[in-house]
Amino acid sequence: MSDKYNATVTEVTTFVEGLAIYRVEPDHVPVSFEAGQYTTLGLLPEAPRVAGSDPDPPGIKPGKMIKRAYSIGSSCKVTDHFDFYLVLVSEGALTPRLFALGVGDRLWVAKKCVGTFTLEPVREDQDVVLIGTGTGVAPYMSMIRAYFDPAAPRKWAIVHGTRKSFDLSYHDELTALASKHDNFFYYPAITRPDDDPWKGPVGRLNKLLEEGTFETAWGHEFDAASQHVYLCGNPGMIDGAEKWLQDKGFSEYQKKKNPDGNIHFEKYW
Ligand SMILES: Cc1cc2nc3c(=O)[nH]c(=O)nc-3n(C[C@H](O)[C@H](O)[C@H](O)COP(=O)(O)OP(=O)(O)OC[C@H]3O[C@@H](n4cnc5c(N)ncnc54)[C@H](O)[C@@H]3O)c2cc1C
Repeated sequence: MSDKYNATVTEVTTFVEGLAIYRVEPDHVPVSFEAGQYTTLGLLPEAPRVAGSDPDPPGIKPGKMIKRAYSIGSSCKVTDHFDFYLVLVSEGALTPRLFALGVGDRLWVAKKCVGTFTLEPVREDQDVVLIGTGTGVAPYMSMIRAYFDPAAPRKWAIVHGTRKSFDLSYHDELTALASKHDNFFYYPAITRPDDDPWKGPVGRLNKLLEEGTFETAWGHEFDAASQHVYLCGNPGMIDGAEKWLQDKGFSEYQKKKNPDGNIHFEKYW
């Protein structure tokens, strides 16, 4: 085992093959981060790839840590571990190695958590719409777990798009919140309904937004004066949604150049 590693996998929750939550306990606990931020995970090229994955992409150098960014899915109020929601990219460099890890295995985690994809710019009287594809729901789970307050006036809506219904890994937790609280709305949608028992919304998120299907279901319209919209995951979804939101008067948040902006995004590739 390499002395370059500084963290241990303490739990693996697999939803379907290639989609899992990895709980990682760094040696340097307590951890400190803001909900929505990410950190970096790493493994050496010598670490084995999970069975059935494709061969390594070109350019992997022996002894050089393979590092990638991952959003933190656990609440920032939990300081003794991180949860990461990971999808296997079979031809990728790092994820086939991450998916070969089990409980007790070691890996590298950056000491710093970074990123501006947080709720910090949102005023208390403003609502949030959190839109994510695939594992792009991870930072929202951290935000919701840390900050959703049923007694506060803020309305929360979370839109999660996946291919199949069994990829909606947080369905139970989010459905439970939505059924209990009027100020929390959950809108899951899938793109591949064939041979799927799913009875909910079907289609790409951009289409469901543009057609107004989401707004009708939520019972509220997009409103640049009172909302911040977060976009996370697939860059195609993010680019399309950003353009569409700009036509509705939203603009990209930039701390210095546009502090009143209300679109925030995190592209995963
Ligand atoms: C800020 C940030 C946060 C991220 N958070 C997460 C996260 O919480 N969970 C997560 O699984 N990934 C996340 N990613 C993506 C992650 O950093 C890696 O790119 C991904 O795990 C693939 O790594 P790899 O070495 O296996 O593949 P690489 O060899 O790096 O291949 C990269 C290719 O994999 C594909 N890809 C990358 N990410 C995904 C994805 N999530 N779903 C489908 N295809 C993908 C793209 O085609 C990309 O070009 C995040 C990326 C960024 C920039």
